[in-house]
Amino acid sequence: LQRDSAREFGALEGLHVINDAATGVTGMIAIHSTVLGPAAGGCRLWNYESQQALANDAVRLARGMSYKNALAGLPFGGGKAVLQRPAGAFDREALFRVFADAVAALRGAYITAEDVGTSVSDMKMVRERTRYVAGLEPQDGKAGGDPSPWTALGVFKSMQAASKVVFGSDMRGLRIAVQGTGNVGAELCRMLSEAGARLIVADIDVDRARRLAGELGGTVVGVDEILAVEADILAPCALGAVLNERSIPDLRVGLICGAANNQLETDRDGEALLEKGIAYAPDYVVNAGGIINVAAEYLGESTAQVEQRLDEIASRLTLILTRAAKQNAPAHRVADEMAQQIIAGSDRVAA
Ligand code: NAD
Repeated sequence: LQRDSAREFGALEGLHVINDAATGVTGMIAIHSTVLGPAAGGCRLWNYESQQALANDAVRLARGMSYKNALAGLPFGGGKAVLQRPAGAFDREALFRVFADAVAALRGAYITAEDVGTSVSDMKMVRERTRYVAGLEPQDGKAGGDPSPWTALGVFKSMQAASKVVFGSDMRGLRIAVQGTGNVGAELCRMLSEAGARLIVADIDVDRARRLAGELGGTVVGVDEILAVEADILAPCALGAVLNERSIPDLRVGLICGAANNQLETDRDGEALLEKGIAYAPDYVVNAGGIINVAAEYLGESTAQVEQRLDEIASRLTLILTRAAKQNAPAHRVADEMAQQIIAGSDRVAA
């Protein structure tokens, strides 16, 4: 484990290794905390270059889920599953069979769902072998299904709230640069366009970005330009670690608010944003819409309850940004401390 992750590794409740000799399936399930309830977090299927890179991702993502769930007011702790994507063609059913059995063996300490590289149909395969899974198809008035539109709505409401704090205005006429026009990014762009914002978009899939700009109006720029364009808001909706010592000096925006997980490469990058006078809406605060929907599905709640929790994201973000400004502290640290206090102050909930 790398140094940062090794420190975080020490804070984990458990790291469960998947290594199935018969199928060659490998991966890990990291459980960061079950203090607030069972550890909930998606399953990522990705081609990692090493076992260490996979472990680092699992550990960081699991901690992020603990904080995200705590701040979203959900009765869940945090965890994450990370599976190595085999090179070339592979037996998807066998992979998710092995994964489902690993989830089942944890007997409810960890609840899984989709993440990057996995889909509703994968989770349906998992559901055949364990009930500790969400992100399945919605049923009659209950929450469920693809979490992306809910994530986009949470980011949109967060941007509305943050624009009021940072610019003292709504989003009409603001220039918003969106990196990544996938499931969340595209949906977010539709809402932004509706709200009268001016869009600048980029995607490694250039046709996808062009199609969206054609539909909504807006400018397409290259993937190597989007982090340096002059705009009011930058919305990272592609990858993690995009805010780092290489990109920050070139940023020309007043606010960063987007869906990608782990946008700051290191904590130091959060401080660099503050020094540069750029407001940062902590990623796990604003992108909680998806897990809010997944949690509601698991708990059998209605979409009305999902909408209420989404509204709370925006008011929580306003509190975090105002507190950060008052203390002249990086917003990510204010959010981390709030999450840690919620976790520390809670009574243990039976899994
Ligand atoms: P997605 O795979 O549908 O979309 C990602 C898009 O980013 C793709 O179109 C891809 O081509 C593009 N992309 C990749 N690298 C790029 C680069 N360097 N520059 C520009 N574009 C690039 O994924 P998504 O579901 O839309 O999720 C987007 C981000 O939000 C991810 O980081 C994900 O972890 C995070 N997130 C998603 C959800 C959700 O509900 N889907 C919830 C929380 C967080």
